[in-house]
Amino acid sequence: MSTGTSIVRPSDPGYDKARSAFDLADLRPAAISLPQTVAEAQGAIRWARVNGLKVAVQAIGHRALALPPLEDALLIKPQINEMPVIDSDRRFARVGAGVAWDPVVTAAAEKGLAAMHGSSPTVGVVGYTLGGGLGFYGREHGLICNKVRAIEVITADGEFARIDDDHEPDLFWALRGAGGWAALVTAIEFDLLPYSQVFGGASYWPVEAAEPVLSAWLDWTRSAPLSVTTSFRILNLPPIEQLPAPLRGQNLVAIDGVATDDGDGQALVAQLEGVAEPVLGQWGPMPVAAVARLHGDPEQPSPAHGSSTLVDGLDDEAVHAFVEAAGGESGSTLFDAEFRQLGGVLRQPDESGGVADCIDAEFVAFAVGLAADAHSLAKTREDLERVMGSVEPWENGRDFLNFSDPTVSLERCFGADSAEALKAIRHEYDPEALFVPPVAF
Ligand SMILES: Cc1cc2nc3c(=O)[nH]c(=O)nc-3n(C[C@H](O)[C@H](O)[C@H](O)COP(=O)(O)OP(=O)(O)OC[C@H]3O[C@@H](n4cnc5c(N)ncnc54)[C@H](O)[C@@H]3O)c2cc1C
Repeated sequence: MSTGTSIVRPSDPGYDKARSAFDLADLRPAAISLPQTVAEAQGAIRWARVNGLKVAVQAIGHRALALPPLEDALLIKPQINEMPVIDSDRRFARVGAGVAWDPVVTAAAEKGLAAMHGSSPTVGVVGYTLGGGLGFYGREHGLICNKVRAIEVITADGEFARIDDDHEPDLFWALRGAGGWAALVTAIEFDLLPYSQVFGGASYWPVEAAEPVLSAWLDWTRSAPLSVTTSFRILNLPPIEQLPAPLRGQNLVAIDGVATDDGDGQALVAQLEGVAEPVLGQWGPMPVAAVARLHGDPEQPSPAHGSSTLVDGLDDEAVHAFVEAAGGESGSTLFDAEFRQLGGVLRQPDESGGVADCIDAEFVAFAVGLAADAHSLAKTREDLERVMGSVEPWENGRDFLNFSDPTVSLERCFGADSAEALKAIRHEYDPEALFVPPVAF
């Protein structure tokens, strides 16, 4: 049967390149398809069915570790409409499957608009948005999944549909937050924000200042204005030239973030002054395109292993426990152990939103290590366990899908009722469970 797109098999020369993923997961799919049009993607799904294979969908591969090895699956990596469309009059973007944030952020900024991207410019727009999408404008504008206007999909039967609040509302609800397992998305449309410039930046201190900096930051978060979204981080930075000299190879504490109101941003900077002597502090007005690199996430494929949980009520004891587990004396080799500030609009359920209608927590605790071999993987796992264990008393029992462990359950992310509803939607749209889910069903 012809698919209209080429199928790459394990014996083909392009197989290793085609199966490579950003997080370097060692997936070995039965076959791979790289469709560039909707018709080619439909052909690929039909080819999988005829050949008795499951279907896994992937874009850039930041969450490839969440997939099983795929020996019984066709891995579809759609690369559709590479150029994003920015409609500045109606203030929205239309982005095809397979596109990363970087070109979208740039194209929106050229028209004086900001995209609700996350901390990495290389993360895929569709995967990020389907999993909720938490970024630096979150406390004022919420999750991006609740700013989605329409999604174009191919369902398990190979049919194309454009879905929104009025067309296939159940599927539209599920795709806004629960990840990509109910359909293959070919394009997505979402709101852009009316900013060309914001106030933002980062401050870095020696890791010895972790406790006072974390305490001062937590105090500030308790009455922080909605316009500001920030993170507290303990970092083990690599000795690479891309970093400013004072940061290279250093074990540091950092606070970074964005304020859409200059005065609110300046008040944060004033609050941080005097807590400890910074190694580097750079805050001020910045073009929105620069926000995508503010967090300094790795942009080259890397063997990242992470873990996260949602926490509430962080107090002095929590500060001490987290710093003891991740700070300078801990021996942690994790690249990053952080708290991202939630609250504000992120915590207010969006009545017209998707299954991730809010994140009901004060902070996401998240940690990530880079592990290229078995020895460093064992150490990374040990560090992750200790760091996440340190915040266990403050866990609220829920997870945010995009940051979660690959084994996370729908119940933990969305609660029992929504998990039941999601399972029913899967049964309705994909009764034979063709699509391989990157979450536990
Ligand atoms: C360095 C880094 C920084 C991050 N920062 C943030 C952040 O700030 N905020 C945040 O919310 N998340 C963040 N994430 C998480 C990230 O948004 C998710 O891992 C997201 O799923 C990655 O999408 P991808 O396309 O890059 O990865 P992939 O592994 O290619 O895709 C992930 C999943 O998305 C689904 N998917 C992708 N494309 C399609 C499609 N066309 N149709 C159907 N399903 C599809 C599939 O289920 C796939 O398994 C970060 C991740 C990393 C590694």
